[in-house]
Amino acid sequence: RFITFEGPDGAGKTSVLQAVLPQLEQALDRSVVLTREPGGAQISEKIRDLILDPENTAMDARTEALLYAASRRQHLVEKILPALAADQVVVCDRFVDSSVAYQGAGRGIGESAVLAMNQFATAGLEPSLTIYLDVPASVGIARIKAHRQATQYDRLDQEQLDFHERVRAAYLRLAEANPQRFVTIDATQDFDTVVSQSLSQLLKHLQ
Ligand code: C5P
Ligand code: MG
Repeated sequence: RFITFEGPDGAGKTSVLQAVLPQLEQALDRSVVLTREPGGAQISEKIRDLILDPENTAMDARTEALLYAASRRQHLVEKILPALAADQVVVCDRFVDSSVAYQGAGRGIGESAVLAMNQFATAGLEPSLTIYLDVPASVGIARIKAHRQATQYDRLDQEQLDFHERVRAAYLRLAEANPQRFVTIDATQDFDTVVSQSLSQLLKHLQ
C-alpha cells in the first residue's frame, strides 16, 4: 500500500511521521518504508537542491513545477515502485497533492495543469490513503517561525501569507474532491492527539 502525508508548512508532517512510524511498525509487526520527496534517489535530491537554492531567484513557476514532477518521477521509479512491488507498505511525506497545492494554487499556474503534468510523471499511481494534516496558514507560519532555523525564517518572511492561504484552500478542495482517499486531521490539536489519530487511521486502512 502507498500512503502519503500532506499539509501546509508548519502542519507537523515530519514530526508526526517520526513519532507514528515506530508505533505503526510495532502494531503491524512488520517494517514500513518511510520516504520523503525527494527521497533517497540521488538524482531527485539534486533536482530538489536546484529548486530550493535561494540563489535561483529567476526560477519560473512552470519550471519549478516541471522540476518537482521530474524529481518525483525519479523517486517513484527508484524507490517507491520497487518497494511496492516487494509488497512493502510505503509512507511518503508529500506527493502530487503538494504540487497541486503549492505550484498549482500557491504559484497560480493552475491546479488542473499541474495535475495533468504529474499524471504523466507518475503514470497515474495514486496513494490509497492520504492523511492531510490541516492547519490555518497563520498557525503553520507561526509554528515555523518559533521552531525552525534562521535560513528557513528568511524564506518564510518573504513568502506572503496569502500564498499559504491559497495552498491550504487547495488542500481543502483536494480533500473534498477525493473523499475515498483523503482523511483530514485537525493539526491544531495537541501533538499526541494528532499522532494517535494518525495511527488509528493508518491501522484502519492497513488492517
Ligand atoms: O515538506 P517540507 O517542509 O520538507 O518542504 C520544504 C519546502 O518546500 C516547504 O517550504 C514547502 O513550502 C516547499 N514545497 C513546495 N512545493 C512542493 C513541495 C514543497 O513549494 N511541491
Ligand atoms: Mg517537513
